[in-house]
Parts: sequence; C-alpha cells; structure tokens
Amino acid sequence: MTQATERFDGSFTQQEPIPEDGIAAALEVMRHGRLHRYNLAPGEAGEAARLEQEFATFTGARYCLAVASGGQALAIALRAAGVGQGDTVLANAFTLAPVPGAIAAVGATAHLVETTEALTIDLDDLAQQAAAAPAARVLLLSHMRGHICDMDRLVALCAELGLTVVEDCAHTMGAAWNGTPSGRHGMFGCYSTQTYKHINSGEGGLIVSDDASAMARAVLLSGSYMLYERHLAAPPTDAFDGLRLATPNMSARMDNLRAAILRPQLARLADRRAAWNARYVVVEDGLRGTPGVQLIERAESETIVGSSIQFLLPDWCAADVRDVLARCAARGVDLKWFGADAPAGFTSRYDHWRYAAPRSLPRTDRILTGLIDMRLPLTFSLEDCALIARIIRSEVLAVTQARAGR
Ligand SMILES: *Cc1c(COP(=O)(O)O)cnc(C)c1O
Repeated sequence: MTQATERFDGSFTQQEPIPEDGIAAALEVMRHGRLHRYNLAPGEAGEAARLEQEFATFTGARYCLAVASGGQALAIALRAAGVGQGDTVLANAFTLAPVPGAIAAVGATAHLVETTEALTIDLDDLAQQAAAAPAARVLLLSHMRGHICDMDRLVALCAELGLTVVEDCAHTMGAAWNGTPSGRHGMFGCYSTQTYKHINSGEGGLIVSDDASAMARAVLLSGSYMLYERHLAAPPTDAFDGLRLATPNMSARMDNLRAAILRPQLARLADRRAAWNARYVVVEDGLRGTPGVQLIERAESETIVGSSIQFLLPDWCAADVRDVLARCAARGVDLKWFGADAPAGFTSRYDHWRYAAPRSLPRTDRILTGLIDMRLPLTFSLEDCALIARIIRSEVLAVTQARAGR
C-alpha cells in the first residue's frame, strides 16, 4: 500500500469505557436506590460528597461543589461572584458557546477579548478592554482547548485592574501552570465532566474555591436546600448563616450515580494525562516541519492534558482549507475548523453568538480563519496517531503543491 492511499478507520468520538470499578459503584447506587445526593442512609457519606472531597484534594482547593454541567458550574460561579442582571463580564473570544451562554444566563453581557497565536487571551487587549468597560468586575477566563496564558501576568494584571477571575477549566482538568493546578488562580475554577472532557459522566460539572462565603453562595445556588451540612467539602456552617435565606435555589445538583462513575476516573486522571500527552506528541512530531502548517508552541510553564490538538494554516484562503478538510475526511481523519461561516456540530465562533453582542475582533478573526482542531480520544493508539499525522501532512502538501501550480 502506498502512503497516499493510507486510511484511518477509527472514531474521533469513541471514548474509553467507564472503568469496571466505576460500573460496579454505579450498580451499587442503583441497587440501593439513593440516587439523590441528599438521600443518605445513617452514617453514609454519599458518592457526590465524596467526589467533592476527592476533587478538592486533587486540586488543592479548600472547597468543592459538584453540579449538573460545566455550563451550570460557570453560571453558578458567576452569580456567586456577584454578577447579575445588566452587568458586563470580560471573556476571551476563543471559547465554546456555553461560556457566553453562562454569561447570558445570569442576565449579563459578554465583552470579548482578542486571541493570540498561542490561542490564549491577549493580555494587552484585556487591559484595553477593561478600560473600555470600566463597570466590568469579573473576567471569565476560558482555557479553551487547554491553552493556558501566562497566568503569573494574568493574575497580576487582574489584581491591578480590580477584576475577579473565574476560570473555565473544561479543557484543563489535570493541567497546571508552574505546578499550580488549572482552576486555582482565581476566585473559582469550573470544570466539566461531560463525555468529551477529561472524566466522563455524560453530563456534570465541578467548582472549586478557597473563598468560604463565595462557595457558600454557590452551594445554595446549586440547590442544597438547608442540607448543606451533608457536604464534605463545603465551607463551615457559619459561612451560610447570612446567605441561606437570601440565595435562590437554582436546582443544578449532581446525583450519586454520576459521582460514582467519576470517582474511579479521577483516581486515574494522572495516568490518562500521560496517555493523552504521548498521543499529542506523536501527532505534533508528525506535523512538525510541514510547509504551511504552524504548530501551537506550548509554554515551558504549562503542564498540558493533550486531549485535543490544534494547528494553524495561517492566512490560507478558505477554499484551500476546505480542500484539506475534505481530503483528510475522505481518508477518515475528522478535522474541525473554526473558520467556517456557519456553526457546525460543537464548533462555533464568537460572531455566531448574537446574544453575546460581539464587537469586531480582527486578530481573533485571523487566528480562527486558519485554526484546525482535532480530538485525540484515548481509544487511539500511538500508531493511529502517527498515521493520522501522516495523512494530514500529505494532504496539506498536496493542497500546497496544487496552490503553487495555480
Ligand atoms: C464543554 C465546555 C463547557 C461546558 O461544559 P458542559 O458540561 O458541556 O456544560 C464550557 N467551556 C468549554 C470551553 C467547554 O468546552
């Protein structure tokens, strides 16, 4: 078989199965029937409460709360951070739709910030936009596709600008900056346990914080009723005293069944990170040096979880990008593109979110027009990853050569 005819037959959306001990724990919950997190037998801790305790330990946070989704985690964190109707929230333009969605859910308006070639928030533009939106008190910082900006500079800048930071760590659970876990640089870190993230319960979310009163608000908002003493990683009871009657119940709890399947996955997350990163490096090495392809160089300070990989076809025309995508798709390699005119599947762009009042972002436009994204499920072998990189490389070369001949 010649290289040009190689084909990849795997599925870009096939996750690993739930580990057997997770399945056993889920069966246990179904057998006793106490699925609601506050439905506990005498002396029982409950899977949701134990997950929170374990995730607090994993991130080094004082407090943790499990909720119904990553999007709910963001909305609850924003509200607990004091964002309400009519407020403005700064956010990076390169992110997923649930981020502007969470801002809209609390009645606020997103004020979007430009994107760098490292796919992170543009900190110079952040300073300018904070000046342009002086009423904004919160930055919702999305580590989109796992790319972490210079967090030392970000934290210093936000302190100077008086901005409270809420981190969206949907793609950075298990990642770190200079050894500090992602999600530990601001008031709240928010995570998703949806199927395509780093631990999988179908839907679900986690919130961490060291701030007792902010976390007490989050627990009440999540729908704890007056049962917050049944948590194991919530603030002490007195933190709830002034809040318990003033904080609405938004009913976004996690149940024991999902928590039961997440706990064994959390215990394996460090191993999974190593497995993802091995795959990431194989694809990255396979693409390195391909003419027309710009890899996203990762900072020395970043500990990544390479569950997906991105690269740029900088300043390519849309027709040529579409050609690469079609040729790769014909050989079984499923690439996503952030430059498409209309949203497709999970992929959309800031100017598609009409509810987010987008302004013109020329630097972000330039990045997204050339941005290609690919998932790396752990069901791929290292050989699969090498094959995928060979296919992309050969199709990029074919399109580049056709272009040169025009
Ligand atoms: C998935 C995701 C979310 C939201 O998570 P859900 O659990 O699907 O609500 C938020 N931000 C980013 C960047 C995501 O990819």
